[in-house]
Amino acid sequence: MEDWRKDQEVLVMEGRIKVPYRWFAGEVGTRYLESLRDKGVFLGTRCPGCEKVYHIPRRHCPECFEECSQWVELGSSGTLESYTIVRRQHPQLSPLPVPYGYGIIRLEGADTGFLHLLGEFDDKELKVGDSVEAVFSDKREGNILDVKFFRPVKGVE
Ligand SMILES: [Zn+2]
Repeated sequence: MEDWRKDQEVLVMEGRIKVPYRWFAGEVGTRYLESLRDKGVFLGTRCPGCEKVYHIPRRHCPECFEECSQWVELGSSGTLESYTIVRRQHPQLSPLPVPYGYGIIRLEGADTGFLHLLGEFDDKELKVGDSVEAVFSDKREGNILDVKFFRPVKGVE
């Protein structure tokens, strides 16, 4: 069989590049991450117009464009609003051993959910509406992985 590629011009080369970068968290993001790192406390911001509490905190309300200048301490547990479970381990990309999950969690006191990892769950019993709690990292460094994952709150139906 003739190799059709030998007469082809090389237009595409496959490869992989690693691009390190630094991202400025901003004033709101910095205060949020410092609170998680130093106190283990989730913060949100409240809109003075519609009273909505945002977590992750926002500087401006995307619905009424008011400045969200009031900070609110939130609970470290909340409600699982949606999720998916990962069952296949990837040697470089899996953040936790399988099975683990990605979930949208609305913390106590917040009106919006955020995406984080799920661990220590029974995947036959996990469901939308479950109460979940944050499991903090032993060594916190000022990023969102200062929370290792969320797990179901035991004894809550
Ligand atoms: Zn608003």
